[in-house]
Amino acid sequence: MKKFYNWTIEELKNYLIDNGFKGFSGDQIFKWVYEQNVIDPEEMTNINKDLRAFLKDNVSFDYLEVTKKQIAKDDTQKYLFKLNDGHVIETVLMKYEYGNSVCVTSQVGCSMGCSFCASGIIAKKRDLSVAELVNQVASIQHYSGEKVTHIVVMGTGEPFDNYDNVMDFIRVINYKHSFQIGARHISVSTCGIIPRIYEYAREVIKSNLAISLHAPNDEIRTKLMKINKVYPLKDLIKAVQDYTEISGRRVTFEYILLKGINDDVTHANELSDLIRGINAYVNLIPYNSVNEFGYKKTNPIKAKKFHEQLEKRGINATLRRELGSGIDAACGQLRLKKEVTE
Ligand code: SAH
Repeated sequence: MKKFYNWTIEELKNYLIDNGFKGFSGDQIFKWVYEQNVIDPEEMTNINKDLRAFLKDNVSFDYLEVTKKQIAKDDTQKYLFKLNDGHVIETVLMKYEYGNSVCVTSQVGCSMGCSFCASGIIAKKRDLSVAELVNQVASIQHYSGEKVTHIVVMGTGEPFDNYDNVMDFIRVINYKHSFQIGARHISVSTCGIIPRIYEYAREVIKSNLAISLHAPNDEIRTKLMKINKVYPLKDLIKAVQDYTEISGRRVTFEYILLKGINDDVTHANELSDLIRGINAYVNLIPYNSVNEFGYKKTNPIKAKKFHEQLEKRGINATLRRELGSGIDAACGQLRLKKEVTE
């Protein structure tokens, strides 16, 4: 069986043509599956009988299998999905006033080895396929009954270490007869794989870029993120500058406030000098503590001071509120519990 969710619209149309059907039926099928949440070919009433029978015999539309679901008080919903080879991944639905955002996982495990991140405790097993990426969104929409309006590729894994599949994923979810999620509603977060930042800047679909910065200088950043040894800050900032110029888009710098590590006013000053002049804003993230590590979150008063210091120095910044912390929400923690306790 072919997996439906693997196909971009062009690939589906080619598949249909190669099998003696009309290419335009691809759009009709996309609409049924992605707009209507209808996955049984029998119910796709505007396509002809032969094609319905062909789809039934040859194409799999199955949603991902849910092995666990948790719902937080704020209605953040976290799903653990089991893949065909038995690996489990987590996908999170977050509800905001402006819409429903899904946090998508890009790899099984992660090899970037950031010292504060739960995802890296389990090394990368493999990349997710386009089908597994797209199906996270289709499945969330199906199981939750909510329309997905925003996507963040910020789950487990490094999206720029699975670049081609993530870009095809974006092409599918952005398509006019699919979920129709606009480029400005899609964000990809990277720990800083520089060659891919240059490539991403030149993509046709101008989705958002977030950089996990987390430190104002190389010394601290290398301690937190081993990728910094390969791609140090000076080169990273140059790549980000290129991205903003080529794409015309603003970049987001993510900065987790870690108690006693990177949260002093002097760090705020250093950070503002580092990114001054770049079309960017800083997202200050409260640390979600991970039992295995010793890091602690900065207290709210100090976090506020850090925020104010950045603003004082002309840097746009927001202090992010926490969602779903009661359910081990962000950052690989549900999956970790499952893999470790089973
Ligand atoms: N590999 C990509 C995307 C996945 S992580 C990246 O590094 O950007 C998504 C974001 O969550 C990153 O900014 C990451 O640094 C952050 N993060 C990881 N663990 C965290 C934790 N315990 N608390 C808060 N943020 C965390």
